[in-house]
Amino acid sequence: MKLHFLERWERDQKELVEKLELFLDHIRSGKISRSDHLVRQKHDEVFAEIDCLDCANCCKTTPALVTGPDVKRIAKYLKIPPRIFKKRYLLEDLNGELSFRQVPCVFLEEDNKCSIYEVRPESCRDYPHTDTGSFRKRARLHQANLSVCPAAFEIVKRLHQ
Ligand code: SF4
Ligand code: SF4
Repeated sequence: MKLHFLERWERDQKELVEKLELFLDHIRSGKISRSDHLVRQKHDEVFAEIDCLDCANCCKTTPALVTGPDVKRIAKYLKIPPRIFKKRYLLEDLNGELSFRQVPCVFLEEDNKCSIYEVRPESCRDYPHTDTGSFRKRARLHQANLSVCPAAFEIVKRLHQ
């Protein structure tokens, strides 16, 4: 019987997470390489097979980063001043970076849909960051995402094979 992608992730994590972490260490150090073109191919392949609405683990567990343009766009959509949006929903770290103050995200609905989908932060749009930028430069981020995102896990697994 074919396992649901969340069940497969659960099963594979126990067996493979250490191997994949090591693989990503080697990607980072340049000992092993995978072209960004191949990474995009695996990204498209995996996302064609899964439905994020069955998961939403990123929205449930990881506070998304929010940029200045995100603040303006979302505040406008919610018809509140950016200052109020920031005060109500965001935290600022010591470097001045903003992120949502609460997980699960306050905009996540019961059916795993995002109530501000059209105007969601860029970091939500780009997550898990496997179809933009350099795979090698983001190897540490991908390591962290192995335990958050079944899609990122599956992409790295297929690149490792
Ligand atoms: S954690 Fe990954 S698979 Fe799950 S909803 Fe987020 S992007 Fe999709
Ligand atoms: S804004 Fe939407 S996509 Fe981003 S974390 Fe919240 S619910 Fe998820």
